[in-house]
Amino acid sequence: MTESESPRRELARMIAGAKRTVIFTGAGMSTESGIPDFRSPGGVWSRMKPITFDEFVNSEEKRREAWTRAFSGVAGWVGASPNAGHMAIAQWVAQKRVSSVITQNVDNLHQDSGVPVERVIELHGNASYATCLDCGLRHELEVLKQSFLGAGEIPSCRDCGGIVKSATISFGQAMPEAMMQRARTETLACDLFVVLGSSLVVYPAAGFPIMAARNGARLAIVNREPTDQDEFTDLVINDEIGPVLSAVAATLEADVTRPPSPRH
Ligand code: ZN
Repeated sequence: MTESESPRRELARMIAGAKRTVIFTGAGMSTESGIPDFRSPGGVWSRMKPITFDEFVNSEEKRREAWTRAFSGVAGWVGASPNAGHMAIAQWVAQKRVSSVITQNVDNLHQDSGVPVERVIELHGNASYATCLDCGLRHELEVLKQSFLGAGEIPSCRDCGGIVKSATISFGQAMPEAMMQRARTETLACDLFVVLGSSLVVYPAAGFPIMAARNGARLAIVNREPTDQDEFTDLVINDEIGPVLSAVAATLEADVTRPPSPRH
């Protein structure tokens, strides 16, 4: 038995025993898909200053700069695929072990892995499409990219002429209230809250694990590094997410085909 085997079995037991599990994911969830953690040293925001929401809205030059960045793929989101961790979560959602996935990520990889759109609660938006800031109409990036790179047109709404922006929540932009409310409802309804790949430093998102724990839910954290919230946590695993979740998934699969343990 390896040292890391036991905590993985414990996480499997927690998931198997929970009535309602909520998964919460951060940047560490997607680093195994090759998406850099943009807040880390060497990440995007240490190499270039983020464009705030006000700058974007008030300055055509900033909008041009933002779209140049977006279409050059400099943020590293283009072409990434879900990893083993995403696939395990999608399987648990399909098996109704997990009721929803709250994510700080904007990479669409939970949806790409097969989690239904209505089960993903995006706290920081989604970088895989754009919306009109005035009427909310969805715009596809491929279409905007062609006119931006081809004719130098800064994206505007084809319906109302409003400013079109990537569907992410920018620095200085209000949190999406509907998503925040759904995240609160899910957090307070669960009896197990599992944090994956978040260092839990960005609020208000980082407030959800404590909210769950104070409400009586069990709390588990899988992250490469310790977090400030480890002391409130029933189980901490400092390891890579893909291998951990693959092992947990295998344990869960093995256990459902086995007769109930005589110890129960
Ligand atoms: Zn519009």
